[in-house]
Amino acid sequence: MSVEQAPVQRADFDQVMVPNYSPAAFIPVRGEGSRVWDQSGRELIDFAGGIAVNALGHCHPALVKALTEQANTLWHVSNVFTNEPALRLAHKLVDATFAERAFFCNSGAESNEAAFKLARRVAHDRFGPEKHEIIATVNSFHGRTLFTVSVGGQPKYSDGFGPKITGISHVPYNDLEALKAQISDKTCAVVIEPIQGESGVVPADKAYLEGARKLCDEYNALLIFDEVQTGVGRTGSLYAYQHYGVTPDILTSAKSLGGGFPIGAMLTTTDLAKHLAVGTHGTTYGGNPLACAVACAVLDVVNTPETLAGIKAKHERFKSRLEQIGQQSGLFTQVRGVGLLIGCVLSDAWKGKAKDILNAAEKEGVMVLQAGPDVVRFAPSLVVEDADIDEGLARFERAVAKLIQG
Ligand SMILES: *Cc1c(COP(=O)(O)O)cnc(C)c1O
Repeated sequence: MSVEQAPVQRADFDQVMVPNYSPAAFIPVRGEGSRVWDQSGRELIDFAGGIAVNALGHCHPALVKALTEQANTLWHVSNVFTNEPALRLAHKLVDATFAERAFFCNSGAESNEAAFKLARRVAHDRFGPEKHEIIATVNSFHGRTLFTVSVGGQPKYSDGFGPKITGISHVPYNDLEALKAQISDKTCAVVIEPIQGESGVVPADKAYLEGARKLCDEYNALLIFDEVQTGVGRTGSLYAYQHYGVTPDILTSAKSLGGGFPIGAMLTTTDLAKHLAVGTHGTTYGGNPLACAVACAVLDVVNTPETLAGIKAKHERFKSRLEQIGQQSGLFTQVRGVGLLIGCVLSDAWKGKAKDILNAAEKEGVMVLQAGPDVVRFAPSLVVEDADIDEGLARFERAVAKLIQG
């Protein structure tokens, strides 16, 4: 028996929601693969992927199966008890990466919160309280808790909330000399996004990450890779550190890990993990059976040679067509990124207008993202069909043409 639901529309958002978001004018109500339908039945192609979350598109049968089977079995027991899906997921992540230990939570910010607390705890235990400084990069993004906005360091996210967490400094991204000048015996951790996602899809240079690894070793600092956006196949490797061949001490993962079900993970070694002894850190929901069952299914599909090779092939399909659109329209000067995290850098004439391009794309039936005001970002499903890529980019091209005609 279904209960009659009260009708709601976009205008309700402005009446009953905290106004910290500014959602699009339409409300998606259903999704299948890389297509989404709104309340009016209009169909859109989804290249936004829930901000690099819907790794297998919408309602992937393997994920629906895992979720519904778990929903009929066991939802939640808290960490007073462990559970089978969490242990299976930890095994999968440990088998597939450098890590020997996993900590589960519910979001990217929480996974970074755990990483930063672990780094400070390790330094505190091994070297004493002086060694607590964290070095992050300019324009980085690590989440919205007070600790993570302080580490991210972007004033638009961190100003106006009272005293910030101290002991954090910021150096320009991809600038090894700047890192070398800043790092010291007081540094407990250096945190880097292998590809800066939110601030423009900027990939790290391999030499930069290699140099950061060396400096961290020299100064007994931990190297943390924030792979919340780049992880779980996004780059065509399971994690971006494997793409670069530079191994961190701590890695954080979220977004695609749950394919749309909230989950985060912090991965590390046994030696470091032991510093988070019983009672030092925790979360009620972390490692929830529903989330872990879905994440297991995500990894089973993504971490195969076929899926990972497919991501590299789809990158080429996006890139060549986008470069063509960029050249013909004069809209962007560069198409950058790795795998299915792609950024189109707007030309001088279009700088600051990424949001206008998003809106124009939506009107033609294709959902895309921005990464700051100057970059249009694509973070589609990792198994997006070639036909959907072609149709979605045809719509995008029409949107661009109309925008230019004014
Ligand atoms: C999205 C993101 C986060 C924050 O994740 P939430 O799930 O929104 O808390 C942290 N770091 C990076 C690199 C991200 O892209």
